[in-house]
Amino acid sequence: MGAISRQDCERLDVDDPLSSMRAAFQLPSDTIYLDGNSLGALTYAAAHRVQEVMTRQWGGDLIKSWNLHGWIDLPATLGRRIAPLIGALADDVLVADSTSVNLFKIASAAARSRGARRKIITERGNFPTDPYILQGLAGLVPDIELVQVARDDIGRSVDENTFLVVLTHVHYQSAEMFDLPSITRLVHQAGAKILWDLSHSVGAVPLDLAAARADFAVGCCYKYLNGGPGAPAFMYVRHDLQETLEPVLSGWLGHARPFDFQDDYSPASGMTRHRCGTPPVLAFAALDGALSVFEGLEMKALRDKSVALSELFIQLVEAAGLGTELALASPRNAMQRGSHLSFAHEDGYTLMQRLISRGVIGDFRAPNLLRFGFAPLYLRHVDIWDAVEILRDEVRRWRETGGASIARMAVT
Ligand SMILES: *Cc1c(COP(=O)(O)O)cnc(C)c1O
Repeated sequence: MGAISRQDCERLDVDDPLSSMRAAFQLPSDTIYLDGNSLGALTYAAAHRVQEVMTRQWGGDLIKSWNLHGWIDLPATLGRRIAPLIGALADDVLVADSTSVNLFKIASAAARSRGARRKIITERGNFPTDPYILQGLAGLVPDIELVQVARDDIGRSVDENTFLVVLTHVHYQSAEMFDLPSITRLVHQAGAKILWDLSHSVGAVPLDLAAARADFAVGCCYKYLNGGPGAPAFMYVRHDLQETLEPVLSGWLGHARPFDFQDDYSPASGMTRHRCGTPPVLAFAALDGALSVFEGLEMKALRDKSVALSELFIQLVEAAGLGTELALASPRNAMQRGSHLSFAHEDGYTLMQRLISRGVIGDFRAPNLLRFGFAPLYLRHVDIWDAVEILRDEVRRWRETGGASIARMAVT
């Protein structure tokens, strides 16, 4: 195979069935944005929708907007729009609160109906909010035990004492992806339930929660869904589990009749009971706009493009001879990873700072990982080519200048 040229990449962009999607995004012209896995880019639709909700609805119709513009139903309305992206039935998804809070809501509600089982299992090295939240729950309910195990030990750790397994589908550092249907099956065989954190999956990886009969899921809307910084998150409960899952965070808007203002709590049916307080309408407006970009898209097309971009990145890094300094810290097999790549570099922090100063925005994760995300809706093949050229340049500069000598001194 010959070297891949920039022209080859231009041709790939011409043939790209998703190429027109880039126009939906407001992107700075001097930036190659490889951090959409952490904060998705702004869509024109989101900007427009926030403006409209602010001036026409809030400004014009004031409190009438709760009914007139359906503000009160936003958690369910947006849940219905996210449902097809995760393979869920329309009414099984609710948008509310943050991923961290939703994780607590589901885990604490599951703890109420755990019977004699005491154990929650999660992966050691999971995104920290997951174990932190579970540690908080275990502190509140003293007979619950949180067990953190290595990835490969999850299968044999789930036993008759386990009521809940909490796993992140695509790992935030390595991008390693669990086989969601087979892990779900394994957990079910032990009589336990599974809660999937889909933060690094939704909007980039096809998901079918219903087919897998997954029990619970939560996920983030400001990463590949582009819902805006701190966008409300989603939660999913499989339909047949909904009526027995009693909320612990039993807020007034999860009440069966919130506007009766009764003294005692009585849960609404379905997902509505997991609402707590008043929804942040402007944040919902941004997410509402952002989700319109996904309408009618095939998740398979997004996945194909994301795989193509990440494969291209790896090939170009190898062809540029950077493989000795940049060690791929993600699975080499694209089918085993999500939509980002991590590379270990002994001076990763400095290198990432230099890339960012030249307009290539990825991020750094301690201790030594450079992380690059491939958002399939707005990145082009030429962006990957240009990014690797700049990366090649900066690695060369690092070798020739202070960075390399400082690192050498540290080794000797
Ligand atoms: C990004 C991310 C979160 C974010 O949680 P917040 O409550 O929005 O801060 C949670 N879990 C995982 C796995 C993530 O990657």
